[in-house]
Amino acid sequence: MTAITPMMQQYRDAKEACGDAILLFRMGDFYELFFDDAKDAAKILGLTLTSRDKGENPIPMAGFPYHQLDSYLRKLILAGRKAAVCEQVEDPKKAKGIVRREITRLVSAGAVTDDELLSPGESNYLFALWRPKIDSPKVGCAWAELSTGDFWAATVEAEELVDLLAAVRPAELLCRDDVPHGLPAHAVAFAVTTRPAWEFGPDTAGKHVRSRFGVRDLEGLGFGEEDVLAISAAGAALGYLLETQKTSLAHFDRLQRYETSAYVEIDAAARRSLELDASLRRGNREGTLLAALDRTETSMGARRLAQWMERPLRDAHEIARRQDAVEALVAARTVRRDLRDLLKQIYDLERLTARVATRRASPRDLRSIVEVLNRLPEIVKILEPLPPEIASSWLVELDLCEDVRSLLCESLADECPTVTRDGGFIRAGFREELDRLRELARGGKQWIAQYQAREAQRLGIPGLKIGFNKVFGYFIELTAAQALKAPADFIRKQTLKNAERFVTPELKEYEEQVLSADEKAIELEEALFIELRDAVEKQAARLRTTGGCLAQLDVLASFAEIASERRYVRPTIVEEPILRVEEGRHPVLDQLEREGTLVPNDCLLDEEHGTLALITGPNMAGKSTYIRQQALIVFLAQIGCFVPARSATVGIADRIFARVGASDDIFRGRSTFMVEMTETARILNLATRNSLVILDEIGRGTSTYDGVSLAWAITERLHDAIGCRCLFATHYHELTALAERLPRLRNLNVAVREWKDEVVFLHKIVPGGADRSYGIHVAKLAGVPNEVIGRAEDLLAAFESDPQRESDRKTVRRAPAKRRTEVQLTLFEAAPNPIVEELRELRLDAMTPLEALAWLNDRQKKIREEMR
Ligand code: ADP
Ligand code: MG
Repeated sequence: MTAITPMMQQYRDAKEACGDAILLFRMGDFYELFFDDAKDAAKILGLTLTSRDKGENPIPMAGFPYHQLDSYLRKLILAGRKAAVCEQVEDPKKAKGIVRREITRLVSAGAVTDDELLSPGESNYLFALWRPKIDSPKVGCAWAELSTGDFWAATVEAEELVDLLAAVRPAELLCRDDVPHGLPAHAVAFAVTTRPAWEFGPDTAGKHVRSRFGVRDLEGLGFGEEDVLAISAAGAALGYLLETQKTSLAHFDRLQRYETSAYVEIDAAARRSLELDASLRRGNREGTLLAALDRTETSMGARRLAQWMERPLRDAHEIARRQDAVEALVAARTVRRDLRDLLKQIYDLERLTARVATRRASPRDLRSIVEVLNRLPEIVKILEPLPPEIASSWLVELDLCEDVRSLLCESLADECPTVTRDGGFIRAGFREELDRLRELARGGKQWIAQYQAREAQRLGIPGLKIGFNKVFGYFIELTAAQALKAPADFIRKQTLKNAERFVTPELKEYEEQVLSADEKAIELEEALFIELRDAVEKQAARLRTTGGCLAQLDVLASFAEIASERRYVRPTIVEEPILRVEEGRHPVLDQLEREGTLVPNDCLLDEEHGTLALITGPNMAGKSTYIRQQALIVFLAQIGCFVPARSATVGIADRIFARVGASDDIFRGRSTFMVEMTETARILNLATRNSLVILDEIGRGTSTYDGVSLAWAITERLHDAIGCRCLFATHYHELTALAERLPRLRNLNVAVREWKDEVVFLHKIVPGGADRSYGIHVAKLAGVPNEVIGRAEDLLAAFESDPQRESDRKTVRRAPAKRRTEVQLTLFEAAPNPIVEELRELRLDAMTPLEALAWLNDRQKKIREEMR
């Protein structure tokens, strides 16, 4: 093997330390990549691949200028890669031998702080999960946002994990390297980083948590014995962030315990079906509830809104607290306007603070922090007209941080650069020494300007110029012709094509003064900057709390804004499982449809009117819209927002289930019918009396008879055993017959007006079941050729008049019954089966076990005979 250069050795050491990350190796003004990293990066980043040490063993190499780091990091992360940034950690001028280099940070999707790598309005979580064994029933979860300090932990049932991930939508998953994480492929749509299992152990992980939060035991954090798993995950997340950031993480000032039972559970399927924050069709924000609702003015507010939507509340008091603020802000129009106008001008205090705490803040970041702090007293003032209990309730967390503000005001210039390198960000008058150095440099520059004028006059060369460059410092430049007149004390330094450059001892003397003063001033500024940044870092927790307070105010003002803009009302929140909506509107359609075209609809689910509504009616009539609308209204109510209706009473839901449409899951490799049934099974297993269930077209993915039978049985189950509030839209109008037998089931349908030969959908939901499905009409609307429509109409008429049809139906109805006797008993026969009757009357307490057995034996024989 040939000997390698010391620099290559340094490179190899760094590469060894950075694991699977791509190493960006700083060399002068460039970041260079070598070997496979260079090859990968050439592809991902579109860099030109060259080679170093051309000859026998060329080393593949690629690179980019240092100031493009952020944009290239972004591309690497979007490509699912990690990057290690290896910097020169000493001044090359002062280095003896080769410059010392160190990896200063590791950047991965879940561990970023730079604005360029983040979406302003979206959280960016690292999600650690700890499952001690592959089949452990419980999983420890922790999610941390490096760019704000937001940090949560929870121990959840293994089945709940997918839903939690759907709500948090992390950017990166952190899990152990020895046991598969056991998540279905579709749930892991983000970067996965594995860590050795011991990093999750009580020694390592527990220590990280205790030392970060300065507590001796976990009770101090509000965590108990049952949270060991959650703490393991939290500790592993901290360990990873410490390792990658190599800083204090001072902004991680609290670990919040995520109480599953405090929030409405909305599983991944329901989240998707209801299009809360991603559309079914394109997966983006367009057409979602979030897009319709968001009137926030700051990115802190936008992220907080998304968080509130992640976890609607179950506590009536908490909901009322938000509603009170919204109500006050709806009423106080000027307050709301002024508050939002001011918020519009406010920087992202949470992310600025995070950059301070990870020691990546620039002078401009500190300046932005002061700008925010400067506005805080105005906010307090703006909110003064609000009822005092409301203002104080939402302002308790607003710490004006006067000490931080005055420190930064005194020290920072009005305009600050994004880098420290050129100085110029410390205010004059803050440090005497700095003023002196600057004066010295300025004096020198002044002297040089005067010297230029003097020499021009003395030599009679009006065009005599004094120039500056990094190599020669200050010099006098003369044209070739003028150079002939150069006096003896001019020392020739450089000959260019048309010019000669000279220096003089005098000039050099002042140059020394200017340069060394400038250099010293910048060094001092840099040192002062570190002092300031460290001082702010110590207050990170307070700044973060204030940021959180601004975020909440922004969301509340946004709720008030939409309420006033779209005439939303404050829903009455009750504990009983009811839902009463008068003239409700679908919140998304409400804004998408032309003014005046949306038909408002009522909804009434309670003991008296029935808790289960079966909505039948033709396609395109508005069934799906109607049932989603109700779920969205309940959802809005529980995040504390007002709702699009004339009035509403919402009983708190513990879970919201939504199984909507034959959603296209083909790309996930599961048949739609299988998906439909999996989701339905979850609903039947998990729904309680306090849940809200909306079902759209159950059983469409199989044959009609299968479909009707399933839908029928599912309805009965929801009605009899679960008793939840449920809205079920179906085109099986056969199901309307159920209303006769199920007391809490009510039939609704969509009003249709037949006019001449046309059918008009009124989108109005009215009591009663639909009797026809208008499929042919819809086909006509869709542009199916007239001949086909005509033929279908003839066929339909023929089927409808055929007496055979009725008997067909009967055989059909009997079909599923052949397999499952009791389905037939309860579903299709009005007269109860005699055996069931007998069983009901049976006095078990008056029988001996032997008698009971004999009875059973006898009836079983009878049933078997019947079945034959
Ligand atoms: P269905 O589920 O009955 O097939 P949808 O709920 O999908 O019907 O609605 C079909 C279309 O009708 C929607 O795209 C919407 O534009 C319109 N629509 C639905 N409800 C209303 C309403 N209340 N007012 C006005 N238009 C409506
Ligand atoms: Mg539909």
